[in-house]
Amino acid sequence: MIKHHPSDALLKAFAQGELTASLSIAVAAHNEMCPHCQQKVDALTATQAQAVFDEDSSNQEVADCTENMDWLSMIDDITKDDTPSLLVPFENKSIELSYDTVQLPRALASVTLKKWSKLGDVSRARVELDEEPIRSSLLDIAPGGTVPLHTHKGFELTLLLDGSFEDDMGTYHAGDFIWLDKSHTHSPRTTDGCLCYAVLDDAMQFKEGFSKLFNPIGSYLY
Ligand SMILES: [Zn+2]
Repeated sequence: MIKHHPSDALLKAFAQGELTASLSIAVAAHNEMCPHCQQKVDALTATQAQAVFDEDSSNQEVADCTENMDWLSMIDDITKDDTPSLLVPFENKSIELSYDTVQLPRALASVTLKKWSKLGDVSRARVELDEEPIRSSLLDIAPGGTVPLHTHKGFELTLLLDGSFEDDMGTYHAGDFIWLDKSHTHSPRTTDGCLCYAVLDDAMQFKEGFSKLFNPIGSYLY
């Protein structure tokens, strides 16, 4: 059962189209697994649409303008546009991981993934979004895998897509949306393997011993 959800502020920003692509993907993918948050977004979207409509109808200039529009020729212009539709039919996309084959949520099925690279138990495929300094990746953590104890210079959003992991704060299951920042320190580990979608805006910072050894991992996971 999902225990961790996006905040109401994040859901509102999502409904208003104000999030970066990487965070929009995370919220959309979470909502595919969480009817509770999807309902909230549907309600927010309906309120938003109503507000825009009310604003438009109270604007006399817009009303005058729409009255004078030549609707028929406008519709004609739209329909004769023969550029290909942007609505590409959804295709299921499964990926082979270290521990299983997993189907990606729709929100991630059409993104472009760079080549997988592997460091220890963690394999990473960056998602091509071009939003520096925000970077997003798919992380495949093999059974028994762990990420050393670290904190975050910026934020770290983890959406657990498959499997489960635990850290110093609890156990997480598929669908959990985990937002952490520099006030959190943790060391995630998985028994049976897991797939995460991670969004970070800075490198992780390792806390204990061997920090020089681990810092390359911090940069790798960012
Ligand atoms: Zn939720």
